[in-house]
Amino acid sequence: MSYVVTENCIKCKYMDCVEVCPVDCFYEGENMLVINPDECIDCGVCEPECPAEAIKPDTEPDLDGWLALNAQYAKEWPNVTMKREPPADAKDWDGIAGKKAQFSSNPGEGD
Ligand code: SF4
Ligand code: SF4
Repeated sequence: MSYVVTENCIKCKYMDCVEVCPVDCFYEGENMLVINPDECIDCGVCEPECPAEAIKPDTEPDLDGWLALNAQYAKEWPNVTMKREPPADAKDWDGIAGKKAQFSSNPGEGD
């Protein structure tokens, strides 16, 4: 089992999650983060920290696609452990449906 970052992180990227993870298993893309499922120890402390409620346990239904996306990009994107400012328009995108279309495969800055 692992926790998974899902659609509502896209273009919100508040980054509250990275500071609480005891094993530093968040990786940063241009407009979202992912969790490395091989490193996540299922502690669950990140889930309530996410203002966008984008972090879910992979035991929830219909998350296979997001789990695969997390696993893939955790290998390609840089590790991130320090919170930075969220995008200026993060609030405008919070909760918007269909954000998958906004996903960027480009890497983020990392630490
Ligand atoms: S706190 Fe939530 S919205 Fe922010 S980067 Fe982490 S998963 Fe994404
Ligand atoms: S569940 Fe724990 S180990 Fe997994 S990403 Fe969240 S804080 Fe890190």
